[in-house]
Amino acid sequence: MSGDDTDKPATRVVTAGRREEWTQGIVNPPVWRASTILYDNVAHLREAARGDSHHKLYYGRRGTPTQWALADALTELEPGAEGTFLYCSGAAAVNAALLSVLEPGDELLLVDSAYDPTTSFAAGFLRKFGITTRHYDPLIGAGIAEMIGDNTRAILLESPGSLTFEVQDVPAIVAAAKARGVATLLDNTWATPLLFPAIERGVDLTVLACTKYVVGHSDVMLGSVTAGPGFFAKLRNTSFQLGQVASPDDCWLGARGLRTMAVRLKQHGASGLAVANWLADRPEVATVLHPALPGCPGHDFFTRDFNGASGLFAFALRDGDEASRAVFVDALRLFGIGYSWGGYESLALPVDPRRALGVPDHGGPLVRLHIGLEDPDDLIADLDQAFAAVRSARG
Ligand SMILES: *Cc1c(COP(=O)(O)O)cnc(C)c1O
Repeated sequence: MSGDDTDKPATRVVTAGRREEWTQGIVNPPVWRASTILYDNVAHLREAARGDSHHKLYYGRRGTPTQWALADALTELEPGAEGTFLYCSGAAAVNAALLSVLEPGDELLLVDSAYDPTTSFAAGFLRKFGITTRHYDPLIGAGIAEMIGDNTRAILLESPGSLTFEVQDVPAIVAAAKARGVATLLDNTWATPLLFPAIERGVDLTVLACTKYVVGHSDVMLGSVTAGPGFFAKLRNTSFQLGQVASPDDCWLGARGLRTMAVRLKQHGASGLAVANWLADRPEVATVLHPALPGCPGHDFFTRDFNGASGLFAFALRDGDEASRAVFVDALRLFGIGYSWGGYESLALPVDPRRALGVPDHGGPLVRLHIGLEDPDDLIADLDQAFAAVRSARG
């Protein structure tokens, strides 16, 4: 069993990271739990401490074959990548990526539609350590060049954006950044490398909240950062200094989830699109914010750059208010009400974006949906009866 660079992504999802030396022939790499590693003698101990301990058992914090197998698998999914480091959550992964490229006195350009905890980390932690942040419009594209100043060291992208799904012109922003020696970081959680191979498109550090589609079963917190050329050493040194380690049990579940990610994403994408198209025709809906639909800001970039859609999007309830949105969400039978997404089950969440540059008007309050692996006809019927519940609540 061995993978090949020419294999298609859905094949690589199955073969990646399954090195014989880590699996001993077992299909799934077993769970290797460790803190202490015992050495044969003092000379052996000295040798381990001296050498490059990458992918050699050294101490539990540096990982075991269980973590290395998942990290390697994620690296193999990003053609051109140097390596991957794993974290105990997606938020920890975003923050480690930022800390590996920023120093006091530097400026970060942060997309205004970023995941809220990312914005909070910049406004809180980074600011406290002398790193300033300026927000930019997700649709800025090549115009980012005018914002790059002498102290700008990094640009954080998230495409599509959290809650409002603006698709960014990633190639234009990457080109402007490269021209000025500025690092680019992309939160690629929505697309994963299967729908948007970020390193191949020139991004320097790509982040996944593996909690979402990699794990895929809503039972593990996990994050990853995959580094492009020249960025892995910085990332690993920063992560070691921060004492970051992801648990072997969680990585084992992550690796197990990864094997089915391509088929799951296909279904999330197809069902999501069926539901989004149905919603777009409903009189109760003002806007559907789904990257594959023409009404979504940046839709043309989606068509140009992505290999497909995943299952997360939002819509605005026409003439809705806080109360009618709550009636709608509460009336749903198959959609759970809860944070996070990317599991096999559908979720609905009332969302209220907070923006530094002002919140765009979408014509009503937003509901975010994650479309799971249920039959989309059942999900549509469920949404239909929830609209009826809103009508009867209004009298
Ligand atoms: C969920 C999420 C994160 C954070 O991941 P956790 O594992 O929940 O910490 C980061 N970025 C995006 C876009 C997310 O949706």
